Amino acid sequence: MSVDTKKLTALLQWYKQSLGNELIAALVVNRDGLVMDSLIGSSEKSLNEEIISGVSGLVEPVLTRITEEFSSGSFGTGTFDTEDYRFIFCEAGPEAILVTVLDAIAGVDPVFPYAYLASEKIARIFDGRTVSPVIPKLVSEQDIKQIQRKVDKLQKINIKSGEYAFKLILGGDGAVGKTSMVHRYVENNFATDYKSTIGTSIMKKNCSFEGLESSVRFVIWDLAGQAQFKRVRQSYLANAETGILVYDVTNRISFENVNKNWHSEIKKASPNISLILVGNKIDLENDRVVSTEEGESLAQELKLSYIETSAKTGENINDAFKMLALQIIKKFIVMEDV
Ligand code: GDP
Repeated sequence: MSVDTKKLTALLQWYKQSLGNELIAALVVNRDGLVMDSLIGSSEKSLNEEIISGVSGLVEPVLTRITEEFSSGSFGTGTFDTEDYRFIFCEAGPEAILVTVLDAIAGVDPVFPYAYLASEKIARIFDGRTVSPVIPKLVSEQDIKQIQRKVDKLQKINIKSGEYAFKLILGGDGAVGKTSMVHRYVENNFATDYKSTIGTSIMKKNCSFEGLESSVRFVIWDLAGQAQFKRVRQSYLANAETGILVYDVTNRISFENVNKNWHSEIKKASPNISLILVGNKIDLENDRVVSTEEGESLAQELKLSYIETSAKTGENINDAFKMLALQIIKKFIVMEDV
């Protein structure tokens, strides 16, 4: 396959112009993480000559991980944070991925529309279709919304493949037991080292049911320590099909925050998300301050299913994920058959 490399380079130049000083570097990589083209941005950090090799060393493992986790090979868009950088991965057709590298403190919202637009053009270049490398300035809300709609369409999961991969996120105050629940459920805890370097750990787990052909593959995104930063949280919570709202039954504030903060923040980031509510740490019977009835009543108010768990003893952990899987099967898969 021959790719019009001149056009690709021209496009990256336009991309750089659109993003201005925000951009540290942009890379077009193939599915194996091999750099096809790259460009250094105009940010101060870009002055470091070794930026591309440093960054591409980080890109490859993240990419391998995300593409492996999604059975369809398709993940749409993802953002990752390291101590120094923010990465935006945008699929550009079946072969290429546009990786945008920004400063760790840069906002991604203004960048997304341009990244989408550039990715679409890159896909065309790889396909050998005609396309102009010019990236227009997107000024109106309407432009941006139009692109967003296109992307939403692109990101629809391939539900015909018979195996379904769903991004699962966990919301809830710190220390309520989110990571413990995931580890208890996933068992093979291969992602620990990953978490420290990338900031997000991604784990997968299949959930199947006897007598049911459909199985659900959860791609569980667990956010490391930086969950307190709203900016990081927003990209973590976005594009999720499913999620678990967790509170600690021995901590009333964590219970109140489900309703006050977490539920609305998650709904805002992923409006169609399928959620359940979990009260965790029920093994600590003597310390319990939130009753089962209160949990159930909050769930009713939020129109969610409710279950109580202990990540410590393992009680109901599998059932919580099964509950979620069934909810998803009903929503995405059964619907497809009708
Ligand atoms: P996260 O910040 O929500 O991810 O919470 P962690 O999973 O890191 O857990 C916070 C603390 O609570 C850790 O010390 C865990 O060992 C503890 N923990 C988590 N789940 C349970 C549970 O079900 N019972 C008890 N007793 N402790 C738990």
